Amino acid sequence: MTMNNLVLTLNDVQKSFGGLRALADVNLQVEEGKTLAIIGPNGAGKSTLLNVCVGLLKPDSGTVMFDGQELTGKQPHEIAQLGVARVFQTPEIFTDLSLIDNVMLPALSKRDGSFKFNPHLHMRKQTEVRDEAEHILADVGLKEQLDMEAGSLSRGDKRRLELAMCLILHPRLLLLDEPTAGMSRHDTNQTIDLLKKIKQSGMTKVIIEHDMHVVFSLADKVSVLARGKIIADGTPDEVREDPLVKEAYLGGAHQ
Ligand code: ADP
Ligand code: MG
Repeated sequence: MTMNNLVLTLNDVQKSFGGLRALADVNLQVEEGKTLAIIGPNGAGKSTLLNVCVGLLKPDSGTVMFDGQELTGKQPHEIAQLGVARVFQTPEIFTDLSLIDNVMLPALSKRDGSFKFNPHLHMRKQTEVRDEAEHILADVGLKEQLDMEAGSLSRGDKRRLELAMCLILHPRLLLLDEPTAGMSRHDTNQTIDLLKKIKQSGMTKVIIEHDMHVVFSLADKVSVLARGKIIADGTPDEVREDPLVKEAYLGGAHQ
């Protein structure tokens, strides 16, 4: 049996906040080009898990490996530089800038290695980045609002904008924390379509999601987190039938 490249691997990751064990012996693997969904009740440790992956939190023990390289101990900007991008639970956008500027910014601020400042190259790069930002805004369905101030967008549109800001970086691994939270059914369906399109491009994803419709539309594998532990994992169909999962969902404070 051949195994695809593992893009992300967590080995025995532990994280406590005081006496609270937010993550206990978490192990997971994500193969190249696949989508892993992480589901579980509120407070299960899902956001903590993503924070550990992007370097915002340091695990107490265990390791996070990305493309065979250890991320544990690296700074968030170093991890981003390696090709890991994350869409937060609350959109982090520049509310006083236009949509197009919001999308251009991450690409323009990406370091170019030994690149010395050259006005001609800089102008050319600006034009290229602008073209690409326009394409990406069209992909996420925000083409018409290009020059609008980001702060005036609806909540669902802000999340789409944040996704566009990640996509322009062409991440190798995209982490999404509840990308459809607070969205209408219509916006949710549009976001599913968009994430399916991204999947076809071969990008590896980890998605945290409450909405089972989203999970079953997008995930190749599902891991279920409850009180900091992975209590089940497998294909969406396998996980759906797991008695432990049913119990966690029926008994927990899930909303
Ligand atoms: P989820 O995203 O699954 O809802 P979180 O990862 O946000 O869960 O939180 C897991 C647990 O850790 C919760 O009990 C939460 O209150 C706690 N927690 C999360 N972040 C912190 C923090 N920075 N300090 C203290 N406790 C935290
Ligand atoms: Mg969370």
